[in-house]
Amino acid sequence: MIGGVRSQAGEEQDVVHIDLAPRPRPPGVMRALVVEGPNEFAVRDVERPEPGPYEVLCRVRATAICGTDPHIIQGHYPGFWPKHWPLIPGHEWCGDVVEVGAGAAALGWQAGTRVAGTSHAPCGYCRRCIEGRYNICENFGVEGLHAQYGHNAAGAYAQYVVHSVRSLFPVPDGLSDEEAAMLDPAAIALHTVIRGGHRAGDAVAVIGPGVMGLLVAECAHALGAGRVIVVGRGRRLAKARELGYEVIDFTETDPVHAVRQATGGFGSDVALECSGAPEAVAQGVEMVRKGGRVAVIGIPLSDASLPMPRTVLDEIDVVGVRAAAGEMPRAIELAAGGRIRLRELITHRYALEDFAEAYATFTERTDGALKVIVHPHQDGRV
Ligand SMILES: [Zn+2]
Ligand SMILES: [Zn+2]
Repeated sequence: MIGGVRSQAGEEQDVVHIDLAPRPRPPGVMRALVVEGPNEFAVRDVERPEPGPYEVLCRVRATAICGTDPHIIQGHYPGFWPKHWPLIPGHEWCGDVVEVGAGAAALGWQAGTRVAGTSHAPCGYCRRCIEGRYNICENFGVEGLHAQYGHNAAGAYAQYVVHSVRSLFPVPDGLSDEEAAMLDPAAIALHTVIRGGHRAGDAVAVIGPGVMGLLVAECAHALGAGRVIVVGRGRRLAKARELGYEVIDFTETDPVHAVRQATGGFGSDVALECSGAPEAVAQGVEMVRKGGRVAVIGIPLSDASLPMPRTVLDEIDVVGVRAAAGEMPRAIELAAGGRIRLRELITHRYALEDFAEAYATFTERTDGALKVIVHPHQDGRV
C-alpha cells in the first residue's frame, strides 16, 4: 500500500495508485499494437527491431491514425496489406533516430535527429523508381526490394520502428511532434494537388472534407488556386468553412449544379476527389469545365462508372493518385512556413496503451474526430 484514505465508517482502506511513470522493460522489449488477424488487436510487449543496412531505429514520439488504418486492421485487403498476420500498423509518425544501421552514417544519418516517416521504401532500381515515381514501384511488395511500412511491413504504432533512410525526413524545430506525424498525409495531399495540375488563379473543387480533403484544400490554396470550393456535409464541411473555404453541402443541393453555378456556369478547372464514394468520381467529371481535370485519391471499394460521352467529347482528364512521389521535403517546407495548416486538424490524443479507445473515437468520428494522435511513450491519458 502506498497511501490510504479513511472511509466514512472511519476505517482505513487501501487505495490503488495508478502509476503514470513509464514502466521499465527489459532491454530489447517494446510496447506495440499487434494486429493478429482481421479486427483482432492488442497492445503488448514485442521484440524491439534492429536496423539493417541503410536503415535506422527510431524512438517514436507520435503516430497519427490514418483513414487507411481501419481498412488494414479490419482485413479489407487480404494477402496485400498485410501479406500475412500479425502486423504492427501505423505509417504517419514522428520520432528520433536512436541507432544507425550499416551504411547510414556515411549518408549523414546520426542518432538524435528528429524525423518524420513516410510509408514507401521503394526498390530504387525499376523503371518507375528511376523516373522518380517510386510510389508506383514495379517491385511493390517484393521481399527484400520494397516495403510499405504499416501496410506490408512493421509500422509505427510502437515505441520503436525501423525505417529505410529513403523513408525518413528531418523535421524543422518549428513543427510539433504531432504536426510532424501529419507530414506523410500532407505530402500525399500535395501529390494529389500536383496530379490535379491546376494553374495559379484556377478554381479547384475538393470533394470530401475528411482529413485528406482538408489537407488537399490547404495544398491547393498554397499552390495558388484562385478559389477552393469544398463539397461535403455535416461537421467536416463546417470545419472546411471554419478554415475559410467556400463550401457546398451535397445533402442540400446538387453539387454538380452548385459548383457550375458558383463558377459562372462553366465548372471548376479541376476537381480533386477525396471522399472515396463511387458516385463522386462521376460528379467530379461533371463539375469541371471543358478540358478540366479530375484527380482521384479516394479509393472506392466498388468500381465507379464514368459519364463517357462527357469525358471523351469535352476532353476531361481523369487521373489516379497513389501516395506521394517525392513531395515530403516540399510538404515540410510548406508546413513549416505556415502555408499548410496541420495543427487545426488534430482533435484527439491518446496513449498507445489506450489504442482501442483512440480507434473507436476515430472510426465512429466521436466529437467530430478528425486527426487522432497516439503517443507510444505515455502510459496515462494525454
Ligand atoms: Zn496515411
Ligand atoms: Zn522500384
